[in-house]
Amino acid sequence: MTTPTLPIYLDYAATAPADARVVEVMQRYLTVDQLFANPASRSHMLGWQAEQVIEQARRQVADAIGADPREIVWTSGATEADNLALIGFMRANRERGLHLVTSTIEHKAVVDTAHALEQEGFEVTWLTPGRDGCIQPEQLRAVMRDDTALVSLMAVNNELGSINDIAALAAVAHEFGAAFHTDAAQAVGRIPLDVVAQQIDLMSLSGHKTYGPKGVGALYVKRHPDIRVEALIHGGGHERGMRSGTLPTHQIAGMGEAFALMQQQYDADNAHITHLQQRFLDGLEGVEGILPIPLSTVLFPTFSTWRLKAWMESRC
Ligand SMILES: *Cc1c(COP(=O)(O)O)cnc(C)c1O
Repeated sequence: MTTPTLPIYLDYAATAPADARVVEVMQRYLTVDQLFANPASRSHMLGWQAEQVIEQARRQVADAIGADPREIVWTSGATEADNLALIGFMRANRERGLHLVTSTIEHKAVVDTAHALEQEGFEVTWLTPGRDGCIQPEQLRAVMRDDTALVSLMAVNNELGSINDIAALAAVAHEFGAAFHTDAAQAVGRIPLDVVAQQIDLMSLSGHKTYGPKGVGALYVKRHPDIRVEALIHGGGHERGMRSGTLPTHQIAGMGEAFALMQQQYDADNAHITHLQQRFLDGLEGVEGILPIPLSTVLFPTFSTWRLKAWMESRC
């Protein structure tokens, strides 16, 4: 093994480097001697070819989450996907009610979007997780109302690594006739995702948390008459009217490739990560200042103990 060069980057929850195989794919769709055409150009062959690249990536992303390709809407990232899910759904479904349920530890893209909806006259209930960083289905059930239109709870938290039981949370939302959105930017490649088995209606995805490029993401929108989303970005009517703007072929092909690689390597990667996790925990044993204190007894947890303990107990 080679000695790693310094500094060692340990912030993959903020962003990961693009896989070299992803970059190789992306480089095919930019310059004049390549397939740079507008995928929305219907009047010539190069446009059709670019469209085929987009549709292959759409299948790759859909396959990774058990969706139909027609349920994938390309966005500029998970931030935009979260905005489209929350604002787009709440505005399009006023007759179902003006109440939204989310949590205080969502990513800023959800928290600030929910605040913006409050300014617009919608009502938001903010759930607070337990010390394990998770929202329990019973907690959700206690705040559900007849006028709750949408529940938005993340799959994996970007700070703690805590994993919500999204299938159980979605089931509670549906019991009350509400739709369920989950921000799965951190979950892709780490936990199994299947929008059908987990009964997800809307799911935000990001390219760059899964060794894809930054600046591209997607919103899964379940094909069902009850799941309607109003566009935030208006224009040429791309993405079935939900998100206008010329599709960036290189970005989208890169995200598709990254998601396909994720699927191929899922088992091997997770076996490797589990091994590293155990090695890390073993290595911490005996280190001064790190004690196996049950979380409930930590009155004033330092950031690191709180974070470490939450992470260790993160499988809710
Ligand atoms: C990174 C991240 C986002 C934002 O994704 P972008 O593609 O950078 O906009 C949203 N939610 C979570 C949980 C994230 O980790």
